[in-house]
Amino acid sequence: MTTVDLTREPLVDGFRRPITYLRVSVTDKCNLRCVYCMPEAGLAWLQRDEILSYEEIAQLVRAAASVGVRSIRLTGGEPLVRRDLYRLVAEIAAIDGIDDIALSTNALLLEGQLDALVAAGLRRVNVSLDSLRHDRFEAIARRPGLDAVLSGIDAAIAAGLGPIKLNCVVMRGQNDDELSAFADLTRERAIFVRFIEVMPVHENLGVQHDTYVSSDEILARVRELGELRPVEGPQGNGPARYFAFDGAPGAVGVISPLSHEYCDRCNRVRLTADGRLRLCLFGDHALDLKTPLRAGASSGALAELMRSAMLIKPERHHLRLGETSSRMRAFSEIGG
Ligand code: SAM
Repeated sequence: MTTVDLTREPLVDGFRRPITYLRVSVTDKCNLRCVYCMPEAGLAWLQRDEILSYEEIAQLVRAAASVGVRSIRLTGGEPLVRRDLYRLVAEIAAIDGIDDIALSTNALLLEGQLDALVAAGLRRVNVSLDSLRHDRFEAIARRPGLDAVLSGIDAAIAAGLGPIKLNCVVMRGQNDDELSAFADLTRERAIFVRFIEVMPVHENLGVQHDTYVSSDEILARVRELGELRPVEGPQGNGPARYFAFDGAPGAVGVISPLSHEYCDRCNRVRLTADGRLRLCLFGDHALDLKTPLRAGASSGALAELMRSAMLIKPERHHLRLGETSSRMRAFSEIGG
């Protein structure tokens, strides 16, 4: 255990929301090219020296833990493309005050890395999967790999990482006819399928405008498949609303960033791969932590910088269909 001074006042933003959750992007690179996320040729990746080392990330997590952050989610880009991710999981698991480490992944590389990740302390995993059909998977992700993803999900459940949350971005004309196939997974297994509205970023404005399906429509269509009752999510609801079919071990969730704002419950901030503390997924408010970190700032000083950043966390985002509210080109830049 790395001892952390836990006596400091916890982080609270200017709207009295306690901030206890930090999403950490470990890379901006990805091994898929999902049509709603990034161009086929990829983006201009960060340079190696711009990206925080695992030791630097751990230093920042230690500072965050000292001001009340309790949950960490590793994300990206695709976090499993960064070498030896288990080393970072082990470092974070050893930090006093951190009691939850989760991973968001497309699961292409999950099966091979699972044992090391679990041994290091990983406890939960969210898998992104937009189609259960091979041809569709490849059309949306612009790369093959469905079998590897499904094996990764099975392996994660077998390793005790269940209940798995499966995130599916719903797009009209591309995969919205698979709502029932995804929903059926929840009748058989303790899987929480979360349908997500396509969100606008600079790279996808055309796609987003043409394919957007609101969560109300998604839910109405899932309701046609059987009676649903509202239920709690596996770790509370976060941004999702969950519903279960009668007797089902899993549940269907909807996440509605555009049609239903969840900003009043926001408890999170994000650390980008290049060391900026980003205060809102959809706004450019951010504080550079890499420069002070590399200049030798103490954990206490870094924690106070995090506290000062709370003042620029916006009350809510202002997303609208077909418009972005930030300069972000794709979520992979900041850890979606
Ligand atoms: N590679 C990891 C994964 O696949 O989960 C982590 C990063 S990925 C950017 C995180 C999530 O953001 C994925 O579920 C992805 O589908 C979603 N995402 C990316 N761009 C999106 C957009 N424009 N609208 C909605 N969801 C998006």
